[in-house]
Amino acid sequence: MDTAALTAWIREFARLIAQEKQRLTELDSAIGDGDHGVNMDRGLTAVVSALEAEPPDSPSALLKKVGMTLISKVGGASGPLYGTAFLRMAAAAGDSVELGKVLRAGLDGVTARGKAEPGDKTMVDALTPAVAVLEGGGSIEDAARAADEGRDATIPMVARKGRASYLGERSAGHLDPGATSAALLLRAAATTLGD
Ligand code: ADP
Ligand code: MG
Ligand code: MG
Repeated sequence: MDTAALTAWIREFARLIAQEKQRLTELDSAIGDGDHGVNMDRGLTAVVSALEAEPPDSPSALLKKVGMTLISKVGGASGPLYGTAFLRMAAAAGDSVELGKVLRAGLDGVTARGKAEPGDKTMVDALTPAVAVLEGGGSIEDAARAADEGRDATIPMVARKGRASYLGERSAGHLDPGATSAALLLRAAATTLGD
């Protein structure tokens, strides 16, 4: 995967976030403060502008720019978490990128920063099974499907991290918004990087 392929991936992620903005906000209204769609769309819109203003010349420069922009524009819990994920992905990227390897680094960054474990009803629940599929040699399409299943598995969970955890048992019965946006990151990868 080269810089052009990664750029296509991030642009598709931005497109899906814009398309699902309302839905992400509704999900976050049920168990959070109703800003996840707006937060993510603000961030990804800024990312696309930054990539167009000055196209990065390497995978790591691109992933770093995505991470820095998300940290400065998204805010909330998800900004630093997604931002850290992309900065760790940048550090793990060489001239050519192996998706499973960089996503593993990104996921490790999210857990190092946010301390969430699988089952805590967060983006980690969508990312973990997707990374496992890629590390096991599965296709990106399979990984995207695993992310969708991980997202759906958050419905019955009781949140143990982030704002939704303030609701305790009342957080059960709802999809986690961050797991939903993380599944879109994998869906965008399947569309643009899939074989
Ligand atoms: P905020 O909760 O600050 O308003 P967002 O609404 O943008 O931020 O993001 C909420 C999402 O962030 C949650 O749905 C969850 O998936 C994710 N999240 C929150 N805290 C953590 C954490 N400690 N580790 C991983 N993900 C987290
Ligand atoms: Mg929120
Ligand atoms: Mg908020």
